[in-house]
Amino acid sequence: MGPEDARYVIIGAGFAGAATACHLAYRGARQVVILEQEAVAGFHSSGRNAGFIRQVLSEPSVADLAAKSAEFIRNPPPGWPVPVSYDAIGCLILGRGAQWEALCRDAELARGRGLDVELWSPEETVAAIPPIEGGSLDGAVWCASDGVIDINALLSGYLRVAQRGGAVIRYGETVREVRIRDGGVQGVATDQGFLEADVVVNAAGPWAAPVGVMAGAAPIAFHPRRRHLFVTPPLDWVKPDWPFCLNVSDEIYFQPNSGGLMLCPCDEEDLPPCDPPTDIRAMELLAERLAAVYPRFPDVSIARYWAGLRTFSDDNRFVIGWDPKVEGFFWVAGLAGHGVTTSAAVGSLAADLLFGADPDPDFSPARFA
Ligand SMILES: Cc1cc2nc3c(=O)[nH]c(=O)nc-3n(C[C@H](O)[C@H](O)[C@H](O)COP(=O)(O)OP(=O)(O)OC[C@H]3O[C@@H](n4cnc5c(N)ncnc54)[C@H](O)[C@@H]3O)c2cc1C
Repeated sequence: MGPEDARYVIIGAGFAGAATACHLAYRGARQVVILEQEAVAGFHSSGRNAGFIRQVLSEPSVADLAAKSAEFIRNPPPGWPVPVSYDAIGCLILGRGAQWEALCRDAELARGRGLDVELWSPEETVAAIPPIEGGSLDGAVWCASDGVIDINALLSGYLRVAQRGGAVIRYGETVREVRIRDGGVQGVATDQGFLEADVVVNAAGPWAAPVGVMAGAAPIAFHPRRRHLFVTPPLDWVKPDWPFCLNVSDEIYFQPNSGGLMLCPCDEEDLPPCDPPTDIRAMELLAERLAAVYPRFPDVSIARYWAGLRTFSDDNRFVIGWDPKVEGFFWVAGLAGHGVTTSAAVGSLAADLLFGADPDPDFSPARFA
């Protein structure tokens, strides 16, 4: 039996599961079933993020995935079914002190990868976004090709390619058990019955750890952390062509959104896997941070806000590859705050590994065995 004949069950229709299914289809895998406990794809993290494609990152292996993935999203392959808008507003990453030095190193690495990256002085940075005047910074890294995308279009695109290749998506079906026989995957039991499988892909996002436990797989810990996003009503002083502005020293970001701003106080709170409720204290944190970091920033009101979970492994690195304990059990998890940006390359790497490529030591689950 070749990999194209295997029966794959993918748990989760977020970016991890959808992009993996898409790239399995590109490689000719035939018998793929995606099981999603919710009634729609992207109900959790994949539908609640800022949709920003950011390529200047400090972890080189993740930055490689980000650059490859951004290229895919900007120029999808022929026959791509759903146009994905890519608004290349660019990204400014502000910092001071040690963080600024680290940013300069990240910028150097990004240049080595062929990205159009510049170092801006504080004056140039304030000239681009006047309301941040008065903040304390040593400079900013400018990446022109970063941008904001339509996340629903991208997620739908991955799923449509998978369906075109024969994949079946079953919504509203929860995996309760991963059945193992003789140390290998036999199938999954869901709330609707048993499904045989040769390969089970754990793309369960915040639920990756409990799904791993169901399979008796390597004990990999994951930490789902809640983060809030806030959107203002339209504001006449906001320029729609302002870049995404991330301050890594003071932990706050914002970007133009629907005539106003989308803002984030970079809050991080450990929660068990769940549909995270919002917490009004995050709005207080946002107000405090805005006032402290950018003293001349005009007051903003909030039209709507929501919370989502970003899921981290113990070493904050992605977990992509075969489980070292259970044959046929495969991980695509721990995509943290970069799961949209890197999705195309993550799916491609996962599909390569599922088709027999050598493990990628940067992401291999074996590091936790
Ligand atoms: C506030 C916020 C802002 C972010 N901003 C960005 C950004 O700008 N750029 C970026 O690149 N990334 C961003 N991210 C990160 C990005 O959203 C995540 O990395 C990505 O969505 C993770 O995708 P996933 O498929 O692993 O998880 P999920 O989207 O959570 O998908 C997992 C799916 O598995 C399903 N599932 C779980 N258990 C079972 C089961 N037993 N049976 C059936 N189905 C199951 C769940 O229902 C879920 O749909 C942000 C995240 C947050 C929260």
